Amino acid sequence: MYIGRFAPSPTGPLHFGSLVAAVASYCEAKTHHGKWLLRMEDLDKPREVKGAANTILKQLVAFGFEWDDAIVYQSQRAELYAEALTLLKNQQLVYPCTCTRKEIADSSTHIGIEGAVYPGTCLSHALKENAAVAWRIKTPNQTLCFNDAVQGKICQNLHQDIGDFILKRADGLFAYQLAVVVDDAAQGITHIVRGADLLDSTLRQIYLQQMLHYQTPHYAHLPVACNAAGEKLSKQTLAAPINTENAAYHLFQSLQFLGQTPPSSLQFETHQNIWQWAISHWQLAKVANCKSQIIQIQ
Ligand code: GLU
Ligand code: ZN
Repeated sequence: MYIGRFAPSPTGPLHFGSLVAAVASYCEAKTHHGKWLLRMEDLDKPREVKGAANTILKQLVAFGFEWDDAIVYQSQRAELYAEALTLLKNQQLVYPCTCTRKEIADSSTHIGIEGAVYPGTCLSHALKENAAVAWRIKTPNQTLCFNDAVQGKICQNLHQDIGDFILKRADGLFAYQLAVVVDDAAQGITHIVRGADLLDSTLRQIYLQQMLHYQTPHYAHLPVACNAAGEKLSKQTLAAPINTENAAYHLFQSLQFLGQTPPSSLQFETHQNIWQWAISHWQLAKVANCKSQIIQIQ
């Protein structure tokens, strides 16, 4: 059984990059006669844009996506994340931390993939009194690898490249890394197709899966859509929200970006015909095996 998913964060409407992830995960699920689930990653309430979740759902409907089962909202699942954290606490794999960002920057001895690596201060020093506590997981000092269906073999030493990372933030919110792993397992996800901007997170997620005794799904990381300046398309780079009035054109463009060589006449077809073409011609092997690819947005 194939169970795939699309997991947008409601920090803004869908943009081209998120549409590409939706299209690819959908085509993969459909060609495998699997399910395609939808999960709203609305965990980070401070970053959420009001109304964005509903806008995304409307956009998906306008594009003709059909999801299976009920939509999962991460904001309603804190209990599940807390249970997983307890399992990790029981194994002495996590520890509380009261360090501020500045203290970490000042005390870190080396820079990893995502900046200053946390030096493990709170493992050997007393916690600050009356300070809000974050929870970190101890990372193994060994190389972990996985095979990505698009990007090939990816390896990291979590201890050196990332450092002990946060599972629950000092403001009480659970971190994306924990929530995504708990939800993918709870929803029985077998295949994850998403943007290569999450490639660097994957080994953290695989490590958490191992510590929680979950199965590791198969991964495929798509090139991320960039503008001509090489910047990732996201709300931060002010990527234009996708206009669903041109849905056929955007679907056509997504398929093109994904290396599927749709005939140019397809952009004038009905959504139904586009999906029919897309699903019957879909080949993951045609997706470029690079982390980013330039696209001209019109
Ligand atoms: N919610 C994440 C995002 O929109 C995607 C998470 C995932 O696919 O694992 O970037
Ligand atoms: Zn600390």
